[in-house]
Amino acid sequence: MAQEAKIGLEIHGYIDTNEKLFCSCKAIHGAKLTNPNVNICPICTGQPGAKPMAPNARALDKAIQIALILGCEINKKISWQRKHYSWPDLPKGYQNTLSGPHSTPTGKNGKFLGIKISECHLEEDPAAWNPKTGEIDYNRSGIPLIEIVTEPEFKNSEQVEKWLRELIITLGYVKALDSVAGIKADVNISVKKSNYTKIEVKNVNSIKNIKDVIDLEIERQNKKGEVPKEQETRAYDPIKRATKKMRSKEDAQDYRFISDPDLQEINITQQRIIALKKTVPETPSKKLNKLIKKHKIPKNSAEILTKNIDVIELFEKTINKINSKLTTRWISEELFSVLNYNKKRLDEISINPEHFIELLELIEKRIITESKAREILRSWIPKSESPKANAKEHSQIGNKEEIEKAVDEVIKNNTAAVEDYKSGKHETINFLIGKVMQATNKRANYNLAKEILVEKLK
Ligand SMILES: [Zn+2]
Repeated sequence: MAQEAKIGLEIHGYIDTNEKLFCSCKAIHGAKLTNPNVNICPICTGQPGAKPMAPNARALDKAIQIALILGCEINKKISWQRKHYSWPDLPKGYQNTLSGPHSTPTGKNGKFLGIKISECHLEEDPAAWNPKTGEIDYNRSGIPLIEIVTEPEFKNSEQVEKWLRELIITLGYVKALDSVAGIKADVNISVKKSNYTKIEVKNVNSIKNIKDVIDLEIERQNKKGEVPKEQETRAYDPIKRATKKMRSKEDAQDYRFISDPDLQEINITQQRIIALKKTVPETPSKKLNKLIKKHKIPKNSAEILTKNIDVIELFEKTINKINSKLTTRWISEELFSVLNYNKKRLDEISINPEHFIELLELIEKRIITESKAREILRSWIPKSESPKANAKEHSQIGNKEEIEKAVDEVIKNNTAAVEDYKSGKHETINFLIGKVMQATNKRANYNLAKEILVEKLK
C-alpha cells in the first residue's frame, strides 16, 4: 500500500468540435492526421494583423455541458484573457484562455465523485513543437481545450486512476471530448514529510503515466535527501520512468494576463444554460445505481451497460417493453459482439430502438429463433430495418415433420461426421446441428432439431 499524499489534477482534454476556437480551420489532430500544417490560416498561425473570429459556439456549449455534468456553477460573463509566454509553439506570443486572475472560468465549485472541482475553463491549444528537429506543426494551434482543475483531495494513485476512468466515461455522456485524443494532466503531489510542499509534474499523458508519476513522486518525496523544501515544477520522462526538475518557485513564470481587446466579453444567458441543462443526462454512477437497484441487473452487466451513453439509452428504451434479462443479454452480449466484429461504436451505426424492441419481441414470443435474430442483427450494419416486415419468412419452424426432413438430408450428406458421432465423438453433434440450422435457414427450433437428430443417430 502506497503512502498517503495530497494530490490535485489539472486535466486537459480536446473538445470534440469540427472547427478550431477562433478560426474556421478543421480541428483534426493526432493519429487522425498524418501531414503537418494542412489545417492552418493566418489566424491560427498568428500572422501580424490577423484578428480572431468570434469563438466557436459549439466549443463553448460543450465546455458548459462539461461544467454542468461535473456539478459546477456556470459563470454568466466570460472574458477572454491573453496568457503571455514565449515558446516556439505559440506564434502570437500568448494563449487565449478563460483562466487567469482577471477571468471568470466557464464553471466553478463543482463536485465529481466526492472530489471538489475548483473550476473548468475553455482555452486554445498551442501548436506542436518538436525540440529535436525544430519543426512546428500548427494543425493543433487553436484547437479548443477544456481544463478541469480539482482541489488536492486525492490520497493515492489508485483513487486517481479510478476517478479519471469514471470522469472519461462521464464526459462521454455529453459527447464533449475527442475520445481518440485522450487526456493530459498537470499533477500536483505533496507529502506530509515535506509539510505538503506542492510539487507539480507538467504534461503527463495517459492515465497509466499519471498513476506512475504519482507513485514515483510519493516515493521520491519521502526519501532522505529528496524531501522538497520549496515548490517546484517537474517533467516526467516515461522512458526513464523518472521525473526531473524544470524550475523552482522563484523562477515561476509571470504570464502577464490581460483581457484580450480583440475578443468581446460574452454573456451566457440563463436561457442558454437551461437549454444546455436539458441535454445533460444523469451521470453514469446514477444510472448504474438505478440499474442495480430498480431493474435488478447484476453489477457486472450494469457496469458494461453504463459505460456508453448510446448503449444505456438503448437499454432504457428497450427495458420498458422487454424483460430485463433478455434485454441485458441481447445488448451486452449479442449487440456488443456485432459491434466488436465490425469495429464500430453504437453511435457509428444507425439502430432504431423500435426495431431493436421488435426483434426482441419476436424472440420473446418465439416467433423467430435466436440464431435467426442474430443473423438479422448482423444485417443491421450500417442501418437497421423493421424485423416485423419479414417476420413471416424468418419465422421459427416448430413442425416436427419439416425438421425431420432437414435432419434426414443432413445425415445423408455428412456420412463422415455421422460415423464419427457413432464411434463416440459426441461433440460432432454440434457440427451436425449447425448443418440442420443452415439447411433450414436458421429457422428450425433448436432444441427440437437437436432432439430429432440425437434420436435418429441412435
Ligand atoms: Zn486557422
